[in-house]
Parts: sequence; structure tokens; C-alpha cells
Amino acid sequence: MSDVFKLSIVVPCYNEEEVLHETTKELTAILQSLVTDNKISKDSKIVFVDDGSKDKTWSLISEFSKEHSFVSGVKLSRNFGHQGALLAGVTTASKDSDAVITIDADLQDDVNAIPKMVDEYLNGAEVVYGVRNNRDTDTAFKRGTAEMFYRFMGFLGVNLVPDSADYRLMSQRACQVLLSYRERNLFLRGIVPLVGFKSAKVYYARKERFAGESKYPLKKMIKFAMDGITSFSIVPIKMIMGLGFFIVLISIVLLIYSLVQKINGNVVNGWSSLMISIWALGGVQLISISVIGEYVGKIFSEVKQRPRFTIERDIYTEKTQEENKR
Ligand code: UDP
Ligand code: MG
Repeated sequence: MSDVFKLSIVVPCYNEEEVLHETTKELTAILQSLVTDNKISKDSKIVFVDDGSKDKTWSLISEFSKEHSFVSGVKLSRNFGHQGALLAGVTTASKDSDAVITIDADLQDDVNAIPKMVDEYLNGAEVVYGVRNNRDTDTAFKRGTAEMFYRFMGFLGVNLVPDSADYRLMSQRACQVLLSYRERNLFLRGIVPLVGFKSAKVYYARKERFAGESKYPLKKMIKFAMDGITSFSIVPIKMIMGLGFFIVLISIVLLIYSLVQKINGNVVNGWSSLMISIWALGGVQLISISVIGEYVGKIFSEVKQRPRFTIERDIYTEKTQEENKR
């Protein structure tokens, strides 16, 4: 049948030994039912990406890949972070898969949305976003900060699909375009909408983490948000420019005021205005320098053109080659 295509599900894993068993069980069941429905080919794969885990994650992945024909994996040489792991998986899988789905290992994203994504793909969509229709299971803090982040990005003119995380399907062509964005600090959520092509949305309910704890502590969340903002927009720099002009205007007014005071003989008067302007300017300069530093830092890391990930072992390709030989 012509519409039987090869699907790969990329799953980044960082110290996920507690969830891997269940994740494998649920994903293989989904793949099996899609094969039975004659929608995807038998050589479709789950591609676990071990992002330098310190626990048994990789040994579980290699064990499962011997047991199930659907399971394969890629081991990164160290921890490259969520986005790097996703990229490594998409790079490996999109070589010969017609479509690639990315999903977190912790089963927070409902796997039952996968068949819906596949249907959208079969209807011609090349990018299918998984969109959460609730955030009840996230803490109020996470919800609040996420909301603020999406608002602020919108204000900066960056087009994000609200409440969509890194749970999505992309056609091989869309993956190729995605991978042609060569920046180091890749912010997938911002890049994917830039890929273009026909897109669709699939709604699902976000659940609790199946087991283990979040690998996104506050520190990583802040870094993630800062990366998103500074790799997509120079509005912060423009805001500083506006602020600068405003401050200059105020200082002109102060200048005129103090001249008038001097002419009238009240010389000692300007102390408070002096203090205020020194402090205000000092503050503004510090903020400006830090924002500029942020961009200089980005340029620094971009010009180095360092690899975004390094694959140590690739069971996906090993299996695929094996299967093609048969
Ligand atoms: N992850 C990763 N490398 C990291 C941190 C996280 O590959 O350095 C993976 C993690 O295993 C999970 C996904 O990224 O599959 C999302 O992480 P998590 O569920 O901890 O984030 P949260 O859902 O709490 O935002
Ligand atoms: Mg999670």
C-alpha cells in the first residue's frame, strides 16, 4: 500500500530509568496498532536518545532494543540538554523515516495523540503540533511563568504556538528544513513555526510525570527562556535605545533646571537631582551592558560552530541497515 510510511518516535531521555519500561510498553503498543491499521510500515521505530544519563537508562535502552523490533536508540557522549538530544534524534531518524514524532520520556504527553498526528500527516500536514488543552498538572508557578513567557515572546514578535511543547510530528522534508537552521542555541519551539509547510494541531491533556522528577529545575527554565528571547529578537536592544533617549531628555530638563537655579543664586541646591541622575544612569548602563553582553555571548558561541551533539553509539542505524539487508 502506498500510504504505509515509516514513522520514528524520538524520545530524549536523561536519567529516566524509572519510566523507560512503561514508556516502551505504551509506545510499542501504539506503533503496533498503527501497523495493524495499515498506516505505518513494520520497520517504524522508537528512537530513545540517551542524553548522557548517569543511571541505567542506556543499558535499559540496549536491552529493550534486543527484545522489541520497534525499539532502537542513540547514545550521546555526554549530557547535551533536551534540545540537543531532540536534534540528535531527529537528525538520525529523519535520514530514512518519512515522518518523525518527538515526545518526552515521562509520559506527560498523552501517547494517544500519536494516531491523531498520523492522521493529520496522512491528510497532508507536514508539521503537526501537540497542543495541551490543560495545564492542571503543572504547578501554579510553572503555569504562571510559562504564561508570562509566551506573552513576552508574543510581545517581542516571536511566533510560538501557545501551549505546544516539544511534542509534535514533522515530515521528513520539514525535518530537513529544521536541520538546515545551523544555530548552536537552537530554540526548537521558535524555529519549527519558521519551517512553514501545511501544519495542523492535535489537542491532548497533559498528565503528571509517570515517575521520577522533572529534569528542568528553575535554573534550566530561566536559561531556556533567555535563550528563546535572545536568539530570536533584538527588541531588548531597541528598548534600551528608547530608554536611553528618554533618559537624555530628562537630563536636558535637569540641566535647564539647575542653570536656572544657579542664575537665581541657589547653588547648593542640585544635590538630590545629581544623586538621582547618577544612580539612574548607572543602573541603566548596567542593564544595557548586560543585555549587550547577552548578545555578544550568543555571537561568541555561534562563531565557534561547535557540534551541537555527539553520538557515541547508534542502534537505530545499525538496526535499519540490518533490516534493509534482509
Ligand atoms: N531531558 C534531556 N536532557 C536534559 C534534560 C531533560 O534529554 O538535560 C529530557 C527528559 O528526559 C524528558 C524531557 O527532556 O524526556 C523533558 O524533561 P522533563 O520531563 O524533566 O521536563 P518538564 O516536563 O518537567 O518540563
Ligand atoms: Mg516532563
